[in-house]
Amino acid sequence: HPALERHDFSAILETINREVRERFGEGEVADYIPKLASVPIDRFGMALVTLDGQVHCAGDAREPFSIQSIAKVHGLTLALDVAGAELFDRVGREPSGVSYNSLVQLEFEQGIPRNPMINAGALVVADIILSHYERPREVLLEFMRARSGNPGVGFDPEVFASEKETGFRNAALANFLRSFGNIHNDIEAVLDFYYSQCSLRMDCVDLARSMLYLADGGFCPVSDTQVTRADRAKRINAVMLTCGTYDAAGDFAFHVGLPAKSGVGGGIVAVVPKVMSLCVWSPGLDTRGNSLLGGHALHRFTEITGLSVF
Ligand code: GLU
Repeated sequence: HPALERHDFSAILETINREVRERFGEGEVADYIPKLASVPIDRFGMALVTLDGQVHCAGDAREPFSIQSIAKVHGLTLALDVAGAELFDRVGREPSGVSYNSLVQLEFEQGIPRNPMINAGALVVADIILSHYERPREVLLEFMRARSGNPGVGFDPEVFASEKETGFRNAALANFLRSFGNIHNDIEAVLDFYYSQCSLRMDCVDLARSMLYLADGGFCPVSDTQVTRADRAKRINAVMLTCGTYDAAGDFAFHVGLPAKSGVGGGIVAVVPKVMSLCVWSPGLDTRGNSLLGGHALHRFTEITGLSVF
């Protein structure tokens, strides 16, 4: 790709790093569980990994954080692989336009969540995974380790325990879905898998690597394997672009113009098809739950490089 020769990515990341550090303190750190509330707001990391093997980082790119909802993408990949297109009989693919943990749409839409990136959708995806894999937690962990090339990737037991303890809304969603017949497995098991997924701890470099398969038609250069079919990788990217950044996906497409998924831990992973994947992390969130400085950094990156799907 010509962009790979044209740009000095290390210098660009350093420029962005310098710019965003002047804005430390903006936004609010997620506080629904103590482990996230105690993360210092003055952190910023950014990493990009290209398909031809370059790795560039800036700031706190090697500091692990709670990946939270970003793992909904990896979960969707695992589920699509076993359920195929039938997955979309149980979960939609339209932006929700409401909060990620909302219950109201489910009532009107007969228990079919709007998309797999909101909690209700991710719970149905978790249910599908539980129906098809015997050891789902291990399968997910193995997936993350193989995609990132880091055998040290793991779950954060403290985050997992707090998610479980305070997850009344997720429990309500799972029960509500069950009342429509859209959860087939034991509710506790579905929730436990979902919380495990949320509690994964990774750094920017590992996370950027973990989504490189979405930049290359489902082929993961880290493990040298076809992780998912090209048509499925295309669909996952489409869902990320339209639904991956809470109810700010329109704004994100407008300013950044890349398929991306964010999490309340302050991470955002974005994909530049055929070129690279990148990850930013800064724990201060904007009012919609996306990393404020992370969003700014991605905006600046596409502005400087012109790399966007548009
Ligand atoms: N773990 C939280 C939840 O399920 C937040 C996930 C996120 O959006 O990052 O409610």
